[in-house]
Amino acid sequence: MSVNENMVSDIVKEVMARIGMSEASTTPMRGIFNDMNEAIAAAKKAQQVVKKMTMDQREKIISNIRRKAIENAEVMARMAVEETGMGNVGHKILKNRLVAEKTPGTEDITTTAWSGDRGLTLVEMGPFGVIGAITPCTNPTETVLCNSIGMLAGGNTVVFNPHPAAVKCSNFAVNLINEASLEAGGPVNVACSMAKPTMESSAILMKHKDIPLIAATGGPGVVTAVLSSGKRGIGAGAGNPPALVDETADIQKAARDIVNGCTFDNNLPCIAEKEVVAVNSICDRLMKYMIEEQGCYLASAEVQKKLVDCVLTPKGLNRKCVGRDAKTLLHMVGVEVPSNIRCIIFEGEKEHPLISEELMMPILGIVRVKDFEEGVETAVWLEHGNRHSAHIHSKNIDNITAYAKAIDTAILVKNAPSYAAIGFGGEGFCTFTIASRTGEGLTSASTFTKRRRCTMSDSLCIR
Ligand code: NAD
Repeated sequence: MSVNENMVSDIVKEVMARIGMSEASTTPMRGIFNDMNEAIAAAKKAQQVVKKMTMDQREKIISNIRRKAIENAEVMARMAVEETGMGNVGHKILKNRLVAEKTPGTEDITTTAWSGDRGLTLVEMGPFGVIGAITPCTNPTETVLCNSIGMLAGGNTVVFNPHPAAVKCSNFAVNLINEASLEAGGPVNVACSMAKPTMESSAILMKHKDIPLIAATGGPGVVTAVLSSGKRGIGAGAGNPPALVDETADIQKAARDIVNGCTFDNNLPCIAEKEVVAVNSICDRLMKYMIEEQGCYLASAEVQKKLVDCVLTPKGLNRKCVGRDAKTLLHMVGVEVPSNIRCIIFEGEKEHPLISEELMMPILGIVRVKDFEEGVETAVWLEHGNRHSAHIHSKNIDNITAYAKAIDTAILVKNAPSYAAIGFGGEGFCTFTIASRTGEGLTSASTFTKRRRCTMSDSLCIR
C-alpha cells in the first residue's frame, strides 16, 4: 500500500478515541443513541424531511456518502479488522470502495406506466418509512453503507442494531452517513444506531409500531427471529456455496479463480467458495494447480483432525478462527508455514465437518465425484437448501444450465471468482445484503420500497 502505515494507525487511534469519548457522551457521534426508542423516534423525524425531498436532493446526499466512504475506506477497513479480529485490511478497503461506487442510488427507483383509451395508470415506488436493519460482523461497515444508500434512495431512513462485536466500526459508518447528509443539506439521523446494541434493543426494533420493515443480514438465528416478528422481513441468511468443476473447465484458471474467491477477506463473504466439488478426471490436476501455483497447503489427515478440534467446538464455530488467514489457522494447530500460504485444502467426503459446515475461513475441502451428475447432487446437498450462492467452472452450456436449475440459488457464478457476483470483476451492481431466504435476491434501493398504483380514469392519455 502506498499510504504511510504509521499515519493510518494514528488516524485509527484518534477515531477510536473519539468513539470512546462518544460512549462517555461528551462529543456524541451523529445518529448514535443509548435507547432504541429514541433512535427510532429520531429516524422517524428525519424521515419526515426525507420523504418531502426531491429525488435530486436524495441523490446529492448519496453522492456525498459515496465520496466520504471512499475517503474513509482505509480507516474503516483497519477499524473493522482491529475490532473484530477478522478479515484482511486490503480486501476490506476494496469492499468499502466497491459499496461506495456500485451500490445503486435513486436511479433504481423507477415508475411503470400504462397509458391507453381508459386513461393513465402508474405504479410508483414509495418509501416504507423507517426501516430496521440488523447487520453482521463479517462485512460490518460495508453492510451499513450499502443498506443506508439503498434505503435512503428509496426515501426511507434506517435504524441499525449492529453486531455487538463490530459496533465501533459500524457506528463510525453511521456517523459518516449523517455527516454526509448534513453537508449536503439533508437532516441528521437519516441513519441511527445503538451505542450498545443488545438482544433487547433488537427485540424493541423488531416489535416497534414505527418500523414497518426489517432487513436482517446474518446467520439463521437472526433471519428466523425477524421472520417471526410479525413484520415484513427481508431475510439475508447464511450460505455454504459449493464450487463445482467439470472436465470441460479451464482447470488452471478454475484453480486460480476458486482460491482467489475463497481467500478474499479471509473467506468472510457469505458468497465466497466454501468447498469444491470436482469430477474425478480433473480432480488431481485441479489440486496440483492449487498447491503449485495458488499457495495452497495440503492438510494431512492428522492436521485435518486438529483443525476440526480447533475450529468446531461443541457449541458451534470457534469465533477465534472465523476470518483468520491460513497461516494463523495452521499456527493454531501447531503447523508453521510461510506467509505465501493463503488457503488450506484437503480431499474429503461431503459429510466431513470442515466441508459441510459454513466455516468463513480459508479452509477448502474438495469432494471428488465420479461424474457431473454426481457432482450436481453433491453440490445441492452441500448447499443445504439455503438457496444462497453457488459457483461452477465449465464450458459445457448444458451442464451449466442443469446445475443452475438444480441448485436454484440467488447467485450462480460461472467461470469466475465468487466476488464477480457483487460487481467486483463482473457486471452488475453491488450489495452486501443478499436476500436468499425471502427471495428478493440481491437487494437494492427498489427492494426497500412499496409499490403504489395511481390511476386516472379516461384522462391524461395524450396519444
Ligand atoms: P450472526 O447471525 O452472528 O449476527 C448477525 C446479526 O444478527 C448481528 O447483528 C447479531 O447481533 C444478530 N443476531 C444474531 N442472532 C440473533 C437473534 N436470535 N435475534 C436477533 N438478532 C440476532 O452473523 P455474523 O457472524 O455476524 O455473520 C455471518 C453470518 O451471516 C453467516 O452465516 C453469513 O453467511 C451470513 N451473512 C449473510 C449475508 C447475506 O447477504 N445473505 C451477508 C453477510 C453475512
